[in-house]
Amino acid sequence: MKYISTRNKEISIASSQAIIQGISRDGGLFLPNELPKIPLENLKDLDYKRMAFEILRVFLTDFEEDDLKECIENAYDHKFDTKAIAPLVKLGEDYCLELYHGPTLAFKDMALSILPHLLKKASKINKIDEEIVILTATSGDTGKAALEGFANVEGIKIVVFFPEEGVSKIQKLQMKTQEGENTFVVGINGNFDDAQSGVKLLFNNKDFVEKLNKNKYTLSSANSINIGRLVPQVVYYFHSYFTLIKNNEIELGEKINFSVPTGNFGNILAAYYAKKMGLPINKLICASNENKVLTDFFKTGVYDRRRELQLTSSPSMDILISSNLERLLYHLDDKVQGAIPSYMDQLTDNGFYQIDKKYLNEFYGNYATEEEVAETINKVYGQYDYLLDTHTAVAYNVVKKYQKESGDNTKTVIVSTASPYKFASAVASSIGIDVDKMDEFQVIDRMSKKTGVDIPKSIEDLKTKEILHQNNCNKEDMRSLIEDFLGVGEPNA
Ligand SMILES: *Cc1c(COP(=O)(O)O)cnc(C)c1O
Repeated sequence: MKYISTRNKEISIASSQAIIQGISRDGGLFLPNELPKIPLENLKDLDYKRMAFEILRVFLTDFEEDDLKECIENAYDHKFDTKAIAPLVKLGEDYCLELYHGPTLAFKDMALSILPHLLKKASKINKIDEEIVILTATSGDTGKAALEGFANVEGIKIVVFFPEEGVSKIQKLQMKTQEGENTFVVGINGNFDDAQSGVKLLFNNKDFVEKLNKNKYTLSSANSINIGRLVPQVVYYFHSYFTLIKNNEIELGEKINFSVPTGNFGNILAAYYAKKMGLPINKLICASNENKVLTDFFKTGVYDRRRELQLTSSPSMDILISSNLERLLYHLDDKVQGAIPSYMDQLTDNGFYQIDKKYLNEFYGNYATEEEVAETINKVYGQYDYLLDTHTAVAYNVVKKYQKESGDNTKTVIVSTASPYKFASAVASSIGIDVDKMDEFQVIDRMSKKTGVDIPKSIEDLKTKEILHQNNCNKEDMRSLIEDFLGVGEPNA
């Protein structure tokens, strides 16, 4: 399998190279040149790691099988607090796929606990002796998961930019207390889109890239623009399907729906890939918060970022430019594919582009307001004694809207992307706890007493951890901060 750029098919490289490069030099994203069908029978009765192997080997064809197995063993181990890795919980007629049992309590761990291992192997395959610098923008969860994955990994440095006022208190603490000499965390005065576009600009800044190369550094990314993030995410869609079969909830071949709380469009794109590879999926439900650019896109075919970014209780979805949508465009239709460079220019220059909405039938898009998120958390807690985080509540609310509008009673898996304790204040106030005058840890204690849901150990540990990162900058200064950290001198030297 080769990886080609969304903006130019002629650019075609091996999977290990795509993982190292992160983003194509022409500004496009790498994607597989084919999505082969996997016979479902081959995946029956496999545990998470075995299934991960069967799926990763299809995508990462220049990796040795033993190397892949080693990566998988090192990723999905005791760092996860359940052997199931991605457990499925029944909630009435629906199912909740809990992807937050990794070390940083968000679904980003599913891919970021394996990416460092893949990157090390990729570096070996390509005989790279330069140090790799991971440059990452985060809306909160990617940053911590990447830091955790890459901390103290030899031959790699990691730099994370997060929006200073755009993440939850716990997310911020998790990042600022990160240990590891090779880690560098910076809050930027701006929102996630500022951080993400700043990072993308640096990747495409020849002068900057050459300067790093001269100093024996090579750039890579831990954002979901990296194919090494996307591929491991395909696994849990297949795995959840077979869990349903094992639990006698569905029959082999029966179609199901997935509802995915969406920001950068990485998670739901992995579901789309699973569908192309033969997983029986009926609808992919794209759930947004009040930043509902994608809702509008799926309803009208117009992608329009010309609006104010809203800060919501689901900060990991506070995004107006969903990078991975560019990959979806590539797969939709030849005509759309050919126009990607033009669409992306229009998005930069005019703030919008339009495609024919007839290509978008496999998806349903809708959104939940802040009020609806709070109501949903409260209602699900009352009904099932089950605590949703704010992001998952968006997906739950939207699937209910979809079921009501369409009458579709296909069994539905709601993808649960974070522990409720990561967004404690918002969750606690939704279930009637008065959080005024309480600090975040008091809220967490109250929430645990009230609901009986255990506080994850990594949150308890945060209470006593030392703040190790205090950096803050404007987006214009991202480059010089990185150069200082790497010790490569003045920007113009
Ligand atoms: C990143 C994130 C999302 C959004 O996922 P995308 O792949 O960016 O669409 C949703 N929920 C949580 C908790 C996240 O961390």
